[in-house]
Amino acid sequence: MERTFDPLPEEEIDRRIGHAADAFRSYRRTSVAERAGWMNAAADILDAERDRVAAMLTREMGKTIVAARAEVAKCAAACRYYADNAAGFLADRPADAEAVGAARAYVRYQPMGPVLAVMPWNFPLWQVIRFAAPGLMAGNVGLLKHASNVPQTALFLEELFRRAGFPEGVFQTLLIGSGQVERVLRDPRVRAATLTGSEPAGRSVGAIAADEVKPSVLELGGSDPFVVTAAADIARAAEAAATSRCLNNGQSCISAKRFIVVEDVADEFERAFVERMRALKVGDPMDESTDVGPLVSEQGRADVEDLVADAVKQGAKVLCGGERPEGRGWYYPPTVVTGVTADMRMFHEEVFGPVASLFRVRDLNEAIELANATGFGLGSNAWTDDPAERERLVAELEAGQVFVNGMTTSYPQLPFGGVKRSGYGRELSHEGIHAFCNVKTVWVG
Ligand code: NAP
Repeated sequence: MERTFDPLPEEEIDRRIGHAADAFRSYRRTSVAERAGWMNAAADILDAERDRVAAMLTREMGKTIVAARAEVAKCAAACRYYADNAAGFLADRPADAEAVGAARAYVRYQPMGPVLAVMPWNFPLWQVIRFAAPGLMAGNVGLLKHASNVPQTALFLEELFRRAGFPEGVFQTLLIGSGQVERVLRDPRVRAATLTGSEPAGRSVGAIAADEVKPSVLELGGSDPFVVTAAADIARAAEAAATSRCLNNGQSCISAKRFIVVEDVADEFERAFVERMRALKVGDPMDESTDVGPLVSEQGRADVEDLVADAVKQGAKVLCGGERPEGRGWYYPPTVVTGVTADMRMFHEEVFGPVASLFRVRDLNEAIELANATGFGLGSNAWTDDPAERERLVAELEAGQVFVNGMTTSYPQLPFGGVKRSGYGRELSHEGIHAFCNVKTVWVG
């Protein structure tokens, strides 16, 4: 069923920013224990209403119902993680008073105020909770500008925090287009911004934030390498490769996208990987047995098709998939492409669909060089049982995270973010809560 929503008029945007600023004045004085009570209540709502919320995500953007349920459960867990740990993260941190000639010296973490969160549609609940759980626990208030194609999830998030007991105005959704982001971010009552999305959106929001001298965190795209050496468990690596590439119907920033395999095991890996990609079931995302649902939009599929067509035109070879199925829906099959060269767009751009580039390299040196031959630096995956190889990969892969012998994913306990054109700043763990804190030095003589 199609539903449409009108963007907020200008006076309403202004009123809501004012409401956020007013709410902050009293909310910042609430105790961490009170906030934790509300955050746990939000987790309870997510757990109790998981099936209904998951169905809404699937209807809005097409992720499989199984993946949507897992996303809701992960959000509840993240809310609980920050409810349990915020007091420790925000506690005054003692410093060496004697060394600085003080009777006492310490660091206090204080909230900044209203934070604008510009968010994408691919994990429509998780991306927002990843900001909101630490943000609200720190005493900040949130203004959400969600992607235009997930308005129901956007409105649900405002309702979630209100029903959980957070005071009015602490978390508000602004149904606005991307053209109105600048106006909100330049408002002096808004103190910081976080954006998860594409590089062009990040560049724009980062530039405005810099111009206003407001802190920002940017979580942008990725084209993660997945390095397999001769010392890897090839069956496990191939299984994780297919799962990672097709996660969220191929639309995840930290999906492995470029598979780099050393020659000695390349045939074996290729056979196992292609077999697993072929075995994934593409179909109705509401069907429990579906592995890969449709892409988010007609344009999303056209973008993927263009990248594959460009590679094929220049000599790349499709090992499986590569043809859109007949019928309704923006489906695209799990696809493996080999012979990708630096002349092809796929070598440099992020493919936001279930398409893998498979590369063969002579040795580990060449693997690391190719893995780093990208402007992105979000996640990375390394498969080897050799301790010396593992150490080199951990040290030399240019990425915000490296997962060895396991699929790259995010956990509330571990910081998340990128280097190079994948952005800056960190979410999750204690880095995530401190990102929007005034780290105040206190010196007492
Ligand atoms: P997108 O087009 O950049 O949109 C993301 C958000 O930014 C939306 O709310 C969008 O609003 C807004 N936006 C777009 N252009 C803007 C501009 N010039 N100024 C201000 N706001 C702007 O990205 P997407 O297609 O939703 O998401 C896919 C991208 O996000 C991929 O590149 C993916 O890798 C990346 N991503 C990164 C992470 C991470 O953690 N690093 C996680 C998930 C996704 P409208 O919808 O109204 O245009």
